[in-house]
Amino acid sequence: MPVQAYASSLISLCQNLIRAKSLSGQEEEVISVLKNYFVSRGIQTFTTDEYGSLIVTVRGKEKGPVILFDGHVDTVPVPDPDSWTHPPFEGRIHGNRIYGRGSSDMKGAVSAMAVAACDFLEASRGNFAGSLVFAGVVQEEVFEGVAARSISKICDPDVVIIGEATGLQLNIGQRGRAEIQVETLGVPAHSANPEKGFNAVYLMTDAIRKIREITPPRHPVLGPGILELTDIKSSPYPGASVVPEYVSATYDRRLLVGETLESVLQPLQELIDNMMKKGAVAVIETTTAPFYLAMAKQTLYNVRELNRHRGPTDPHKESAPWAESAYGKATHPLAAANPRRFPR
Ligand SMILES: [Zn+2]
Repeated sequence: MPVQAYASSLISLCQNLIRAKSLSGQEEEVISVLKNYFVSRGIQTFTTDEYGSLIVTVRGKEKGPVILFDGHVDTVPVPDPDSWTHPPFEGRIHGNRIYGRGSSDMKGAVSAMAVAACDFLEASRGNFAGSLVFAGVVQEEVFEGVAARSISKICDPDVVIIGEATGLQLNIGQRGRAEIQVETLGVPAHSANPEKGFNAVYLMTDAIRKIREITPPRHPVLGPGILELTDIKSSPYPGASVVPEYVSATYDRRLLVGETLESVLQPLQELIDNMMKKGAVAVIETTTAPFYLAMAKQTLYNVRELNRHRGPTDPHKESAPWAESAYGKATHPLAAANPRRFPR
């Protein structure tokens, strides 16, 4: 097929994917656009996992490695479409660029992978060793990694290529993520008599100041483990004339290779134990857990409900060992050729 034909099939698939608005949990249309594309290229067999991700396997005539092309098809919302220079769901072309929500993250890469898989099957006529698996993944923006794990269980890949934008540089790893929620409990009182209560916000500000002094570990390639406060909620809200009795603060923690649930939580637990020991914060004892990994709930487009930890499901059992072994095995020639970016 001439190069121009590859390009136009790629561009029109990307535009169609952008036009199929696909917030997390609402990916039905975009999955059907992808299915239609594969059908138009002669592929009829699909697998859909429990979350609704689309899996297409192109098998060679001989046995060999399984290569997984993995790309999520959901996008983050568009809070203010009027502020866009080009409409977010039309896939308009201006100059040499396609504009639209998800064009970079990551419907462009998803289109490239789908077109490449079909072109490869056509050109090789199946005369190759191994399998090429394409996965259009749902729910990535809200539950990073959850659906990808289920796909890996189904196809057991030897190599995974993820199409996330990395500035046209090859990256061989990425930090993981956990959300840690810290809670403080106080005693409510009328704000005209604050001495009769205990202000949970003061307790939280104290904890926040101390948490800022924690330095997470650092990895030579992945960088710092980052522990950043992302939100605070107090209750009652609005707190008209009431000393607040409850505060929750969420922290975003980026995980490095080899970290475990225990090692991530340990410095926070120590700090909170110390605060409680000093007695200044006796009321915190009424809570069952001073912090926990945040939970969230989403309805999938196939109407099932997903209830998961946001962050690793069970890092000490699952993420760390396979992340470590995959990282250790990453010896791509491009990585060897670029030691600045991939120090080993
Ligand atoms: Zn992405």
